[in-house]
Amino acid sequence: MRKPLVMGNWKLNGTKDSTKELATAFAAAANKVKGKVEVAVCAPAILIGTVEANAQGSALLWGSEDCDVHTKGAYTGENSPAMIKEFGSTFAIVGHSERRGYHHESSETVAAKFKAAQEGGLIPVLCIGESEAEFDAGTTMAVCEAELKAVIDLVGIKAFESAVIAYEPIWAIGTGKTATPEIAQGVHQAIRAYLAKFDAEVAASVRILYGGSCNAKTAPELFAQPDIDGGLIGGASLKVPDFTAIIEAALQRA
Ligand code: PEP
Repeated sequence: MRKPLVMGNWKLNGTKDSTKELATAFAAAANKVKGKVEVAVCAPAILIGTVEANAQGSALLWGSEDCDVHTKGAYTGENSPAMIKEFGSTFAIVGHSERRGYHHESSETVAAKFKAAQEGGLIPVLCIGESEAEFDAGTTMAVCEAELKAVIDLVGIKAFESAVIAYEPIWAIGTGKTATPEIAQGVHQAIRAYLAKFDAEVAASVRILYGGSCNAKTAPELFAQPDIDGGLIGGASLKVPDFTAIIEAALQRA
């Protein structure tokens, strides 16, 4: 059975004080649903240590919003998976559309980051999804399949036994335009069907999260869909009542 997962992505937000407040509140919320729903936050690298300091010993899991492909060396500004792991991290988001877009990360680079994260002992959370123009053109699955294929080509389908996928339509991220449960379920089901062509067991067991303006109002119906295993939550993960309500919405799948 796939355990529901609700994960925050804080993006470029937070101070030491706000991180302490959120990590403490989310640790308590994670403890309440322990064993039924996994709760995690992915924080800016410089704040991961503050999350660790305030959530250690709780059921809250945490991680990074990105990681480098290198393990060490002359790569100014980067954070290796080992550095991220040293601060108690479980996850590393890779391939967020903001990294693919603003930082020109190709699907091959994202695949290399996925591999590096796993080799460093982290669970990669692979973000995939189409732009509004691609959605309008009906090429959603072509985009998602190409983004998945780049990873499968590099590490093989079995690597998804220890990974999470986040379907995040770019047109829904930070726009308030949540995908309807029908649209999201259709894509999640198609992603699973695509993976099943490589390995049916992996396809059935991998968790696929929905991300894109998911909030306390929309989460219950999204999480009621058979192939939506939880959410990757941006804006709403910066507000205690909203993220807590989203965690509670995931309980229906437990
Ligand atoms: C995200 O950045 O991964 C995301 C889903 O953002 P938001 O929830 O704000 O749309």
